[in-house]
Amino acid sequence: MGNAHSDLSPSAANRWMACPGSVRECRKVPKLPTGESAAEGTVAHALCEQFVEGEIDSLELMGRIGETVTESGHEIEITEEMVDAVIEYADLCKADIAKISGMGRPLPVIAKTEVRVKVDLGENEELWGTADRVTYQKGNTLIVRDFKFGYNVVEVENNPQLAIYAIGVMDQEAGWAFDEVRLAVFQPRARHEDGSDREWVTTPGELKEWKRKLKSHVEDTMADNAPVVAGSHCRWCAAKIGCPAVNGAIAEAAQADFSTAPSPETAKKDVGTLVQEARTWPTRKIANILEWEEPIKAIIEAAKDVAREMLSSGLEVPGFKLVDGRSNRKWIDEDDVVAEFDGVLGTKLWEKKLLSPAKLEKLVGKGKIDHLTFKPEAQKAIARDTDPRRPALTSAQEDFKEVPTADPLVDELMGETQPTKKKIWA
Ligand code: SF4
Repeated sequence: MGNAHSDLSPSAANRWMACPGSVRECRKVPKLPTGESAAEGTVAHALCEQFVEGEIDSLELMGRIGETVTESGHEIEITEEMVDAVIEYADLCKADIAKISGMGRPLPVIAKTEVRVKVDLGENEELWGTADRVTYQKGNTLIVRDFKFGYNVVEVENNPQLAIYAIGVMDQEAGWAFDEVRLAVFQPRARHEDGSDREWVTTPGELKEWKRKLKSHVEDTMADNAPVVAGSHCRWCAAKIGCPAVNGAIAEAAQADFSTAPSPETAKKDVGTLVQEARTWPTRKIANILEWEEPIKAIIEAAKDVAREMLSSGLEVPGFKLVDGRSNRKWIDEDDVVAEFDGVLGTKLWEKKLLSPAKLEKLVGKGKIDHLTFKPEAQKAIARDTDPRRPALTSAQEDFKEVPTADPLVDELMGETQPTKKKIWA
């Protein structure tokens, strides 16, 4: 888990390495309350620690499905998905020990969870955090494992957060005598073409280079005039609201001035008009605007949070006010409702709802419901070129695409892995 108190948090290393001035800028803004996703991650991490350390067994863990816990002011439900992730993570931790033990070296295998580590960068320069899991045998292999319960894909290769953890472990307790260092990220919810458990296999030599590089980045952040540099890393920056560098970069990408409200003409532009305009834009500009999608969304969400806080405490945000949100009534206790009305209404009290195809398939088995389902045509989505999904067909390819024949005899003659095809013309 990342470190919540360090100005140079390892989990934010991508940001402060790219924008040294962000460390200074972040110190100026009040700390925002923990978001729901972060709170959910904290709950999942706590379960990981308890389960890996044997404080709870699998029955106790599964028994907690459906339980709601309060974390940083959020009500977080322990879901089946969360428990599955914890079990899978624990299996990986066990496999790490087995892998190193199986190498037949004589020294003991050390395995620890939630390890506080600090990179030794000399006086007044501290870089520290908490590694989720560390497994090692001196003189052989060091494995540092990070559990991430979010949906945002994290690349493991050359990941500075993991490099910091590994360097911290070697600086502080394990020494640098290793044949190899394996840095692993387990992301059960994020789709990646290499799967949910991914590794960066590196060496102490390469990490010594990283240590030199990190020292230089840390020194850059400490300079009085450390520059601010905008980029996709701004998405995670606490100082993004009002940051001139990010405002300028977004304004340039969108050709809009965010320091003032939009003009009436801009405000009333509909998507159709904008699409017409966008057709005249150079491709590079379109790509640049797409790159800013996530930072812009994050900035708007952050601005909404701050505006909500200001309006709640009686401050004015010109042109905006707070209104009551919509919510539907909920049962305080469903058992009480049943006790009061089941005898009166009988079956009328209940609604029958058909299971989803996925749920029914789980019950009856794969292939048993194929003849009852269809997939509505979905609109094609834009994704980054690193996305694990196959590229969709272009319109021209769609017009001349190959489709499997419905002739089982032909299919059989061609072999199962070679579906027979015929051309269709639009
Ligand atoms: S918003 Fe971006 S440019 Fe501004 S300080 Fe943060 S990381 Fe740097």
